[in-house]
Amino acid sequence: MRSVIPDYLTEALGDVESDSSGESAGYIPELATADPERLGAVFATVDGEVYGAGDIDTEFTIQSISKPFTYALALADRGFDAVLAKVGVEPSGEAFNQISLESDTGRPLNPMINAGAITAHSLAGSPDMDPAQRVERVVHGLSAFAGRRLTTDEAVCASEMEHAHRNLAIAHMLRSHGILTEDPRAVVDGYVRQCSVLVTARDLAMMAATLANRGVNPLSGERVIRERVVRQVLSVMFTCGMYDAAGDWATQVGIPAKSGVAGGLIGALPGQIGIATFSPRLDPHGNSVRGVSLFERFSSDMGLHVMEVPPAARAVVRSNHLVGSGPNAIRVLQLQGGVGFAGAEKIVRETLDTAPREVRVAFDLTRVYSIDDVARRMLLEVVRRLTLDGHDVYLVDPESIVPDPDPGDGGRVTVVGSVEQAEAPPHEEAQRGSV
Ligand code: GLN
Repeated sequence: MRSVIPDYLTEALGDVESDSSGESAGYIPELATADPERLGAVFATVDGEVYGAGDIDTEFTIQSISKPFTYALALADRGFDAVLAKVGVEPSGEAFNQISLESDTGRPLNPMINAGAITAHSLAGSPDMDPAQRVERVVHGLSAFAGRRLTTDEAVCASEMEHAHRNLAIAHMLRSHGILTEDPRAVVDGYVRQCSVLVTARDLAMMAATLANRGVNPLSGERVIRERVVRQVLSVMFTCGMYDAAGDWATQVGIPAKSGVAGGLIGALPGQIGIATFSPRLDPHGNSVRGVSLFERFSSDMGLHVMEVPPAARAVVRSNHLVGSGPNAIRVLQLQGGVGFAGAEKIVRETLDTAPREVRVAFDLTRVYSIDDVARRMLLEVVRRLTLDGHDVYLVDPESIVPDPDPGDGGRVTVVGSVEQAEAPPHEEAQRGSV
């Protein structure tokens, strides 16, 4: 049997293919020479599977899609405080090349518009790097996101640089406010070089999948950036990635995204997939016309909007029952699924409502496949309070979902591999993991 996904992608491309509205970016003359009919779409899963249809291996320049990734590198290299001091995170609602800075500080509003992206470029790498080393740091970093060594398109780079008056004007303004601290032309040259990195739709999907996969490239396994940086980058993509169409995009499509004037468009769906499309003709916002249509379709066909509220998860407390009888009886709360804050609240409530009369209480985690940090802490606090109330508490945790549980002050817990192990009378019980 063939996978259903490439067939779905082919069908989606077929639906938008005849739309020839929009124009290729004209302000970078070299981009106008690209074939406007090119069309491709790729899904890359967080475990590295790639599905594509159409022109998925055609190279084109990354342009503004480099912005979220360079922002990530700047955050990684200089830290949040240094970057936030120079680039804000407020949507501008303006065009990507608007010459707008915060009136009091001179900070660009966000790193997705050119003013912010030029500043973010200047913050990539260590402060002592010269412009060429910084470009190398950026290309190397973008390559790590893609999982292969990327190169630049010298013709597109030279063509943009010849007409870079607006970006130069922005950079000079940034220099006059002290946001840039070096030669504005050198910074713009580096930024334009960053924009001229060659990618395919396949590369872009993998770069997006690296964000969707908490910063780890699904194919190379390399941790490119840490999770806190991913959260920052995806938030900024969600609110600012589509420039003056960001609000429309957030409501209609609802996937953190970024477009580029060469026709690329990416979306990163946290924990699920990276998506990329390629089609050069642009709408008045500078976003790919057919790319936007494809994303609208993907989002509605597959329920990919990040604000789509999932049906309430199946009860975290699967059952609450007694095992055994007499003084050795154990109150067992069998838990299930992925447990986050809301699930942990149910465990707290169930424990309170039950007010177990039995001395021995077990939380059976056999069917729990994940428990996040806050839920783990809440569960251990319940364990601690039960101990203080005179209970003997067991965690049935055969797969160490909660490794080395420490209920803290006055708490005590015995980890067992099965309810049967806990059932053994206390003097025979396995002491494994007892704290
Ligand atoms: N290099 C382009 C510029 O700065 C990138 C713009 C874009 O892709 N939106 O104008």
